[in-house]
Parts: sequence; C-alpha cells; structure tokens
Amino acid sequence: MNDSIIKSIDVQLFAVPLAEVLSDAMHGDHTHFELLTVTITLSDGSQGTGYTYTGGRGGQAIRSMIEADLKPMLLGRDGSDIEAIYRDMEYCIHYVGRGGIASFAISAIDIALWDLRCRALGKPLHQFNGNQNKVAKAYRGGIDLNFSLARLLKEVQGYLDAGFNAVKIKVGQANLEDDVARVKAVRELIGDDIIFMIDANYSMTVEQAITAANAFAEYNIFWFEEPTVPDDYTGYARIAENTSIPLAMGENLHTIYEFGYAFQQAKLSFIQPDASNCGGISGWLAAAKMADEFNILASSHGMQELHVSLVASQPNAGWVEVHSFPIDQYTLRPLVIEEGMAVAPDTIGIGVEFDWEKLSAYKIK
Ligand SMILES: [Mg+2]
Repeated sequence: MNDSIIKSIDVQLFAVPLAEVLSDAMHGDHTHFELLTVTITLSDGSQGTGYTYTGGRGGQAIRSMIEADLKPMLLGRDGSDIEAIYRDMEYCIHYVGRGGIASFAISAIDIALWDLRCRALGKPLHQFNGNQNKVAKAYRGGIDLNFSLARLLKEVQGYLDAGFNAVKIKVGQANLEDDVARVKAVRELIGDDIIFMIDANYSMTVEQAITAANAFAEYNIFWFEEPTVPDDYTGYARIAENTSIPLAMGENLHTIYEFGYAFQQAKLSFIQPDASNCGGISGWLAAAKMADEFNILASSHGMQELHVSLVASQPNAGWVEVHSFPIDQYTLRPLVIEEGMAVAPDTIGIGVEFDWEKLSAYKIK
C-alpha cells in the first residue's frame, strides 16, 4: 500500500494587521497582509504545510481556486510525486490561470508538498538543490514611500542597528527632486560601505526611469528595482542601455515563461523570484536555475523565512530580501541574522512552522 496518498487538504486564510500603514508607489497603503496556508495530510498521517501571501487583496480568490479546482484533482494522488503534480496543477487551471491567482494557489500547494518531501527524507530544505551553503547575503527592504524624510532616516538607522549591511528604500514620489533628496540623505546617513538599493514598484515610464536612474547614479546604487512595468521586457533593456545602475525585478513574474522572456530581453543584473507566487519551491528553483544559465544571481522577494534556505543553497546565490511583511514573526523560528547574513534553519522540513495560536485571532471565515 502506498502511504503517500493525499488524504486531506486544509486551507486557512488570515488577515494579519501591520504595526502601521506602509506605502509604495503603486499599491497604495498597506494596512495588513493576507496569509494563506495549505496543510496536506498523507495516508501515513504525515503532514506538510505550505503558504502564500498577498498585499491585502486576492486571498479569497486564491482559496476559492484551491478548494474548487485544485483540491478535487489532488485528493487520492501520490503526494511524493511533486513533479507530476506540479505539471498537472498548471494544466488543470491553465485556461483561466497561467499566472496571477493560479500561480499563488499552485505555490501554496507545492510548498506543502516540499515540506512533506523534506520531512520524509529527514532533511532541512537548505540541504536540497545545490547544497552550497546555509547562509545567504541579506538586505532590509523598507516599504516607506509615505514616511517623512526624518522618519525614513530613523527607519534606515534601525536597519543598521539590527545588523544589516545592505538596505533598500522605495522611490516614486510625485517629484523626482524629492526622490533624489531622499536617496542623497540615506546615502549620507549610511556612508560609503553599506549597500544601497532602490525600488520604484514599476511606477515610472521608461523615459522617466532613465532620467531618474541618471539622477540617482552618483549615490552608488547597487540596483534599481522594478523601474517600470514588469511586462515591458524591452523597456527594461532600454533603461539598462541608457543608464549605469544594474536593474532588478522578478516579484511580479509568475510563470517560467515570463522569467525566460525577462532573461532573454530585459538586460537584468538580478532576478527576485518569490516562491509564494511563481509556483512555489519548484517554480523558484526553476527560475534560479534558468538565471544561472544567463549568469544572473538568484535573489528573492518577500517571505525571508523560507527563501533563506533556497537562496543559500544555490550556486548563483544572490540576496535575500528581508521584507516589511513580518510573516516570520508568526512562525516558531523568526529569521536569524548573524554578521549581516541570513542563516537557514536546520529544522527538518521547509523550516517554516506557524504559530497557529498567534495567528488564530486573524483568521478569516
Ligand atoms: Mg519590490
């Protein structure tokens, strides 16, 4: 008898409030984030939990797609055959999905299956898929466009005090002069040795981004993230050809085909796939492998508590973003930073175990 048959799939949705309102250029004010968890139980009683998250909208649709479309296809399948399940999930909802909500739904399930795989083999996630290392470079990514300059500087100082040696701020103010003033002030605060990135959340036209990048260039910017809409791959190439700051994106690429177009056309220096929305661990690893073929470093966006194990294990390891959505504060092992580096957990499984009691107050019926 096969003891890895999928017997049940339990989906939970939480709306977790943020300590304060956080804003960026295109998503407006964030008051909370949504966390959707998927717990899969196999016929031998073993359980694995995966998850995805949103900026506050879409969680109900993701849950609905899992419950109505994916769950019936998965019950009774061999849960150890992640590769076949991944392919079948993609094609099961391809016509209405192919990215977006579908990628978030697939991601949460795929991560749960990987949790089961790691547990079955008695290994932590960082020992899979390359096994290069268990520490990764990390930076603190602020969502701070709405902060006054004084407040912004206080936040950035807090990142340095917490041990980070790389920081990122939002740009995309109504006037470029205000962005330049903020970038200048942050560089003066952090000095020459701290790595400094900026993120426009795709708020600029190609022409605006070129003008802005050239204005930011004297402040030694490590990367310019999502200067323009992520679908405009050749627009990214035009920005890269007309500026000196390396370009980064990837948090809005949801399928391996989109990553392929980006690598081929966008002249990126960094890629930032997010396992919560690009097909889970399977999708993230495929994007990282493709990045290596294009000599691009694989970094990550969001959910640092999981990505640390993935980024660290890659031969082309880039940077783990320590995001302002504190999902890791609702787990049993919040992210560990030592000497500026993120340290992967040695816990058997994916290393992300939720504190269900802490989350219970935020559950959505
Ligand atoms: Mg970003």
